Amino acid sequence: MLARARRIVAFSGAGLSAASGLATFRGNRTDALWSRFDPMALATPHAFARDPGLVLAWYGWRRGQLRRAGPNAAHRALAARGDIVQVTQNVDDLLERAGARQVIHLHGEILDDCCHAGCGFRRSAAVTTEAAFDPDDRASHPAVESCPDCGGPLRPSVTWFGESLPVAAWERAEAACSACDVMLVVGSSGTVYPAAGLVDLAKRAGASVIVVDPGASAFAAGADVVIAEPAEDAVPRLLATEDAARRSVDGR
Ligand SMILES: [Zn+2]
Repeated sequence: MLARARRIVAFSGAGLSAASGLATFRGNRTDALWSRFDPMALATPHAFARDPGLVLAWYGWRRGQLRRAGPNAAHRALAARGDIVQVTQNVDDLLERAGARQVIHLHGEILDDCCHAGCGFRRSAAVTTEAAFDPDDRASHPAVESCPDCGGPLRPSVTWFGESLPVAAWERAEAACSACDVMLVVGSSGTVYPAAGLVDLAKRAGASVIVVDPGASAFAAGADVVIAEPAEDAVPRLLATEDAARRSVDGR
């Protein structure tokens, strides 16, 4: 399938970056902090309105964690294929750090700040790798900065629960997914809509669907091929195999 495809889209989720050491927040949480504290409840406009310092402290900690992490073998294998359109639900920059050029981020980019008032201002965030997260230590929580353009509060440039996806990214993703021959789904549980609808879109447009996921992906039922392995094991092997197959197809 991959060797014969003219247009391939890789649709990735948290499972792609799991081996890089980034917490996914959807698996089992045994750490004491997370057993009494719901990080999902911090990723909402309501949380930011109620306690912006707490939300900024949490993102500061995640940004530091990301800076300490690095791309894994799956990021590198995907990035090495410049012809594959990368559509990701991940807010990290690990595909870019692996060398990928055009990455469509459906849920924003955690290393940027943007204006919460929606004026369009955006900048790279200041990141300290030593940032810790203590919900109770209010003195350690950052103050909210003001937008230099309109004075609105600055926030992480990610899509929170209850918010719309970035329009430009969504339109580019829709165009790519409706025109691809193969949709390679990597490490996505398939439970977060509307992003997950892109796989259905590709399938309806006639694409073959290949799912790489060691767990239960909602996409598995409608997939043509399911590889139940971690991304960092299966993706490099799959794309290396595909290189070999493409050579043999070309060489007929
Ligand atoms: Zn603004």
